[in-house]
Amino acid sequence: MKDGNAILAEYGVTVFEVMSRLAMEHGSINLGQGFPDDNGPADVRAVAAAALEDQPNQYPPMMGVPDLRQAVAAHARRFYDLEVDWQTETMVTSGATESLAACFLALIEPGDEVVCFEPLYDCYLPMIRRAGGIPKLVRLDPPDWTLPEDRLRAAFSDRTKFVLLNKPLNPAAKAFRRAELQTIADLVVQHDAYAVCDEVYEHIVFDGLPHVSLITLPGMRDRCIKIGSAGKTFSLTGWKVGYMTACPALLQRVAKAHQFLTFTTAPNLQRAVAFGLTKDDGYFSGLGAGMQTKRDRLRDGLDSIGFAAAPCQGTYFLNADIRSLGFEGSDVEFCQEITLNAGVTTLPVSAFYASDGARTNFVRFCFSKQDAILDGAVEKLGAWVRGR
Ligand code: PMP
Ligand code: GLN
Repeated sequence: MKDGNAILAEYGVTVFEVMSRLAMEHGSINLGQGFPDDNGPADVRAVAAAALEDQPNQYPPMMGVPDLRQAVAAHARRFYDLEVDWQTETMVTSGATESLAACFLALIEPGDEVVCFEPLYDCYLPMIRRAGGIPKLVRLDPPDWTLPEDRLRAAFSDRTKFVLLNKPLNPAAKAFRRAELQTIADLVVQHDAYAVCDEVYEHIVFDGLPHVSLITLPGMRDRCIKIGSAGKTFSLTGWKVGYMTACPALLQRVAKAHQFLTFTTAPNLQRAVAFGLTKDDGYFSGLGAGMQTKRDRLRDGLDSIGFAAAPCQGTYFLNADIRSLGFEGSDVEFCQEITLNAGVTTLPVSAFYASDGARTNFVRFCFSKQDAILDGAVEKLGAWVRGR
């Protein structure tokens, strides 16, 4: 049999799938792969169910159903004071994943450089490289994940096509500060580049921090593509409905890839997400507040068994230092050990790094789970710690 694509062949099965399979095999509590264990808002699901029966189920328009595109524009106005023309500046995709892939395929010419922050979400590197891009990695290290300005400057060049900014950052749970965003914005302008902004966790930000979107900074309006996901904002990860906002010229470029990738997304789900985005402010603030309570619950629990948690400003992930428990092996070994012997599954943070020598002593816990599940995980880990 002839080989497949050499770049993709280098990658194994994604860490999310590997660890979820392992968790299932061993019947452990799965705090690895990131997904909530509730079923999403009942009213949003009801709109999807009704639309499935009562509305057309054939191909919706390529750019998305008008209701959802209008809702994306209204959401940008409501939360970011951003005037967006729904007809020329919004597009619906099959999850944020498709938005990202469409950006990579549409914007990258072979040899273009893309500035990315490590740790990074698993699909970024393979897809950027598959599109012919050369990733320039800027490494952030736990537990503070401070942005090293000198490394950032060194990563930009005349060949930079765009910077890929995930904010809040999965798995680091870091919400970049305004001054850090300004530095990024200045470099984007200086190098006449774009910014692809993965903001799927825009409503999951804690401790009263506002979510500042790069597109709102001076000079950024026509250089940024802002990406959101109903999977995160409505805890409906299986729906794979994403949306993007960008100036007309940029959006047109990305639409060239979207039209040949998926072309469109399930119409009833789009209609339900349109309804969701018009929910009152309390829904959105409640999502962040609810996750913050869960973060605190897990952090306090881990703390009580001697496990030092890193700061967590957003996303539904909390990282903890395995050295604080005196564990001397790698983070990968730790995750295997606790799946088998504690009955809890987490992810090794090293899985989110690509550069050589970027080892971490951290594991990532997903806390978008029912309280009893979080408590059960702490109890099992506590028993394992005491038994060592
Ligand atoms: N970006 C990041 C940082 C994520 O954590 C996720 C979640 N899976 C995605 C993109 C993909 O989002 P979606 O499920 O909407 O494709
Ligand atoms: N975004 C989720 C995470 O970081 C998982 C996405 C996936 O399984 N592909 O855990």
